[in-house]
Amino acid sequence: MTEFYDQVKERLIRYAKVDTQSSNASDTVPTTMKQFDLARMLRDELIETGAQNVWLDEDKCVVYGILPSNLEEGKGTSIGYVAHMDTAPDASGTNVKPWVYENYQGGDIVLNEELKIVMKVEDFPNLNNYLGQDLILTDGTTLLGGDDKASIASIMTMVQYYQEHPEVKHGLIAIAFTPDEEVGGLARDLDLARFGSPIAYTLDGDYLGYYEDETFNASAARITIKGRSVHTGTAKGIMINAVDIAAEFMNLLPKFEKPQYTEGREGFFHVISCNATCENAVIDLIIRDHDAIQFDHREAYIRKCTESLQNIYGKEMVSCEIKETYRNLKEVIDKVPFMIDYLKEAISACGIEPKSLAFRGGTDGSALSHRGLPSPNLSAGYENAHGRFEYVPIQSMEKNVEILIKLNELYALRND
Ligand SMILES: [Zn+2]
Repeated sequence: MTEFYDQVKERLIRYAKVDTQSSNASDTVPTTMKQFDLARMLRDELIETGAQNVWLDEDKCVVYGILPSNLEEGKGTSIGYVAHMDTAPDASGTNVKPWVYENYQGGDIVLNEELKIVMKVEDFPNLNNYLGQDLILTDGTTLLGGDDKASIASIMTMVQYYQEHPEVKHGLIAIAFTPDEEVGGLARDLDLARFGSPIAYTLDGDYLGYYEDETFNASAARITIKGRSVHTGTAKGIMINAVDIAAEFMNLLPKFEKPQYTEGREGFFHVISCNATCENAVIDLIIRDHDAIQFDHREAYIRKCTESLQNIYGKEMVSCEIKETYRNLKEVIDKVPFMIDYLKEAISACGIEPKSLAFRGGTDGSALSHRGLPSPNLSAGYENAHGRFEYVPIQSMEKNVEILIKLNELYALRND
């Protein structure tokens, strides 16, 4: 047990109890005002633990702070850490009751005796990775919000460490806590000029030691189809059924290039919804690929499908609009390879094996990287996120604090 154990534990439990669920159904910034409850708490805590330039953006709900460098002038490289405050809309975040299961020795865990909610090893074999550890769990009726509050707990504990150990040398460390990650916020409102570091790590991966330097390229396409509805009794040669054209469009999509048939670095098309009547149809689909060239081909293919239907039914009858969602992190991270070298070195130095996969999704870091803040993603330490069986081993957060401190040490030694 390190000096961090009690701190990360107390912090995660305290943050988890604050309801910060974001919403897909809202157009406000942030999507839910209750995220300010945690933002204010974190602002005050950053001030108490000695961070400087602490600021809460009262419009955008982003919390900022820095630890100024205590190195000789001109030495060291700045680094930053970004974590999100909201929890996923997929499961309730109201009245979260975190509790600690000490020294887990394997077997099923009763989360809620009264409601007979049990977390079974059979369903969640990842429990076997944490024998002898102390787990923070839910009562089985809400999510925990370790995604991403476990990261916030680790980052805040790191800040306190430097307050208590002013003799430990480090370069400038920038910190930001953002809203709405779970609803595609992509850290849009993070002000890079205010942030204070030209590079950063997001902390939002799941298990300890895992990191991401590669994500999908992603876009969303909307196909709009017009039909011509007339009485079915006299429709011959006149009616154009938009439902049929929509089906025709969807049949042009390659059958096995769908999420349910792909893995690893295989890309896909995914129809999210198709709303169709004889008169009108709208197909919403998403396009994903790690490879930038393949991704461009996929977008071109959607345009080609649209064209071929335009050739049959008329140009004005079918249209297509494609919007970029995010780009692969890797395009940017490949230009700063030391960020991954340092990350692996820091994880290994803490006795953990660094692990990485080509992530089949996006992170706030994908968007931030393409906005000019290279941001690989480091684990937070949570398991089974977005659901009632979410849990966080205290030891994972403890290790994450150590990893951050080690990273800071490496950046303090880097002069560029
Ligand atoms: Zn997250």
